This record gives sequence, C-alpha cells and structure tokens, in this order.
Amino acid sequence: SEQGTAVDRIHRLLGASVLGVIELSRGCGKGCRFCTMGAKKMEHLPPETIVNDLIANVEGGVTSVVSGSEDFFRYGASGPRVNFKRLRSLLVEMQREPDLSFMQIDHANISSVLQFDDEQLREIRELLTWRERTDFLWVNMGIESANGHLVVANGGGKIQPFRADDWEEMVREAAAKMTRTGFFPVFSIILGLPGETPDDVARTLELVRHLATRRAVVFPIFHEPWRPDGGEPFALEAMRADHFELFTTCYEINF
Ligand code: SF4
Repeated sequence: SEQGTAVDRIHRLLGASVLGVIELSRGCGKGCRFCTMGAKKMEHLPPETIVNDLIANVEGGVTSVVSGSEDFFRYGASGPRVNFKRLRSLLVEMQREPDLSFMQIDHANISSVLQFDDEQLREIRELLTWRERTDFLWVNMGIESANGHLVVANGGGKIQPFRADDWEEMVREAAAKMTRTGFFPVFSIILGLPGETPDDVARTLELVRHLATRRAVVFPIFHEPWRPDGGEPFALEAMRADHFELFTTCYEINF
C-alpha cells in the first residue's frame, strides 16, 4: 500500500548491488512533511536476508558496503527508542563475513544517535570495520533548522523522544559525540522550510559556524515539497542575503 514498505516481500540479493548498498530497514515514520518516508512506518529486514545480501556483494567483488536505511541506529527498534541489543547482534553476525573492508552508514537521526552512550557508539564503530579502518566513516544526519519548533511544525517526530527546545544543543552534542567515537558527521539543513523566519536563518547560521569548529560537513538543501500540503518550494529568486550567507558558509566548511 501507499503507507507500507512491503518488507515481507523483499527477495534476497542474487548479486552485488549498486554502490554495495545492503538494505537494513525500510521506511521511517517520523512524519517529516518534506520527506517521502515520513508516513511509512520503519520496518526491518531479517538478519538472515541482510547477511545473505552482504555475502552476495562480497562474492560479486564489492569490498566496502553501505547500509541502506533512513536511520541506521534504529535497526531493530519498533518506535523512536533505539534497540542496541538488536543492532549489535546484527553487526556481530555481519562480522562473520571476513572479506570486507568496512560498512558506511547512509542515513541516521540525531535523536537516535543521542540515545547511545559513547562506549556503545565506539563498539558499533568497531563492528562496522572489518579489514581496513577508514577515517571517514560518515553519518548523514538532518538538522533542517536550528529552531526545533520549526522542525516539529514541519512534521513532528524527528526530534522524539527528545524536546524541540533542546534541538540546537542536541545537534552540538551529536557533532561532538560522533567525532569523539570515531565517526564523521555529515549534516544537512533545509533553506526555505515553511514558516521559516529570518531569526531561524540567523540561528542556523550560528549553529553552522559552531559546526565549522568541529570535524564535520554541512550540506544546504532547498525545500522541495512533494505532497499538496507541503508548502512552497524554495528557489534562487527567494534567496535573501541571510540565506546566501548561510549557503556559502556551509560550502566554505565543506571545501
Ligand atoms: S526523520 Fe529523516 S527519514 Fe524520517 S521522515 Fe524525517 S527526514 Fe524522512
């Protein structure tokens, strides 16, 4: 159905996938209106399928793979609370495949990352490395705006189980935590979210300047609605001087 992920009808891979993507979970369900996965409840592939897909990739000549999930750290969870035991157990099973270098994380949520302590994150970091350690084990995480209330107004669940008032501090903490546990944070922000004010842009700019002092990159994205009640798309013509400064500041950090 429109709302479903058809996870029960996923077949095992028979050969290597594009970019070595190994699907772990489908859907998200956190409700962000600007995202096609907002209304699709997250469901997980069984460990046997994931391990099979890993082996199919290795046999197809792939040595570093990428996890396919909207939120890697929520593998095995049934709501916004992470399930360290199930995630760890999956990674331990995947570790049995010896001919790999490492697994990159595709997407993750700040609100999931912050539910782990440093020791757990370090253990996950180790379990993502097989033969070859990379300094750039990136984790893509959406900030969208420094104003947590604006983020919530555009969908609801991204910050759960935490509070919108704490969002800005959560982003700072996630950057520090991921860096000290061996990950490379890759953040994204959205310009022109419905309801965005000049004050929100200024706060996001200040936050991005803070992230520039960390080992992180930040990608600015233009708001692009995909559903009828999704508001207006953001375009170059709508860009004010403050948007431009925010946009260029991100790129100065990145390159
Ligand atoms: S948390 Fe991320 S994946 Fe989930 S609905 Fe929001 S933007 Fe989409």
